[in-house]
Amino acid sequence: MESIVVLGAGLAGATAVTELRDRGFTGPITLIGEESELPYERPPLSKGYLQGNEEPESFTVHDAIWYQEHKVEPRLGVAAISIESARRQVLLADGSAVDYDQLVLATGSRANLGGDAPLAGYDLPGVHTLRKLSDAKALKADITDGARVSIVGSGWIGMEVAASARQLGARVTVYSTSEVPLAAVFGQRFGRHLLDLHQRHGVDVRTAKVHGIEQADGHLQVLSSAGSSPADVVLLAIGAVPNLQLAETAGLDVDQGVLVDATLRSSDPRILAIGDIAQAMNTRLGRRVRVEHWDNAIRQGKLAAATLLGGSESHDWWPYFFTDQFELGMEYVGHSAPGDETVIRGDVDSGEFLVFWRNSQVVTAAANVNIWDVNDELRAVIGRELSAERLADPKIELADL
Ligand SMILES: Cc1cc2nc3c(=O)[nH]c(=O)nc-3n(C[C@H](O)[C@H](O)[C@H](O)COP(=O)(O)OP(=O)(O)OC[C@H]3O[C@@H](n4cnc5c(N)ncnc54)[C@H](O)[C@@H]3O)c2cc1C
Repeated sequence: MESIVVLGAGLAGATAVTELRDRGFTGPITLIGEESELPYERPPLSKGYLQGNEEPESFTVHDAIWYQEHKVEPRLGVAAISIESARRQVLLADGSAVDYDQLVLATGSRANLGGDAPLAGYDLPGVHTLRKLSDAKALKADITDGARVSIVGSGWIGMEVAASARQLGARVTVYSTSEVPLAAVFGQRFGRHLLDLHQRHGVDVRTAKVHGIEQADGHLQVLSSAGSSPADVVLLAIGAVPNLQLAETAGLDVDQGVLVDATLRSSDPRILAIGDIAQAMNTRLGRRVRVEHWDNAIRQGKLAAATLLGGSESHDWWPYFFTDQFELGMEYVGHSAPGDETVIRGDVDSGEFLVFWRNSQVVTAAANVNIWDVNDELRAVIGRELSAERLADPKIELADL
């Protein structure tokens, strides 16, 4: 029986392992992970866990007994330092080596610290990033009632942490390089709705570029194009960077992600790549795409297992993600591009509405905001040519579009 090694014990890796056993694979499986925790889901780190409503047990994929019962060997708390593809071996930082017949790479992402040159002051005490449970623990300890929390970046994680920190009684400032957060990608109307929501809840959203953080008189000082402002806590939320070093040194084809086909095989047929690192051919989109979301980690984990066991499935679904901020809950499906036209169904001011994105009459994506159990119907309209009038008309049932 072939041995399978999964490198990266996050959600994608854990799902691949689960699916391998669910599909009846009985050979040896090793799951290698740098973090000491068993694989867990990350979305609660910026939401329920940060707010104190969820504990790690509730978002840990499986407890330790599951790995024993399913004969999966977790090697946790140790980083892999290289892949010797000619020898089919993974070398670990503790000096040991693990042999594989098939390798699934699932090394995920790390927080961006500011590109090639990290933002000045990124390593000062009180300056955080948020990727791991240990990051969330440290951030949570610092966000106290009345603390001045400055968030650099107005992407999903920045805005979610802003909402959580306000709910904990912190005074929150978000630094956004665009006047309306997320508008470049999601359109002005949706971006404005998100901005209004945060401002209504007392978040100070400033349009300014942060160029550094300093320590001064016992507190932090955020230096931006709008001047200098004091803070007790700073979160750098300026995106994520895929962990591609191992793939690169193994000689895999890499271009802003590990290049994989629609079955998730890389340029080395014995190595698959999944989750945040995979630049994967998507048969619906007809091109490669890299998706940094929860649903993708799960689906690609399952697909990797199918591929390894000779299945005929492929990467053929529309990307999906969700977010929760204050009273807004939203799901998005599809793949819109900046500049796509938006069509709204419903009343944005009521907080419950749908958004469709279109390019040359074709629906590229759709989102449901505080309206539930419609995502499958939205998924079904993507890729179809539909008029703005029909999409916006609440008298036409979604199923009849
Ligand atoms: C705070 C936060 C909130 C999020 N919220 C949402 C949300 O609301 N909705 C949504 O759709 N998505 C959300 N996401 C995104 C989602 O969590 C990720 O897309 C998903 O975790 C990707 O899974 P992954 O397994 O590919 O990578 P990861 O979860 O990053 O796991 C990769 C694992 O590999 C390990 N690793 C890396 N290099 C090595 C090495 N050399 N040796 C050993 N181990 C290694 C890492 O330590 C890590 O444990 C959120 C992410 C974060 C950080």
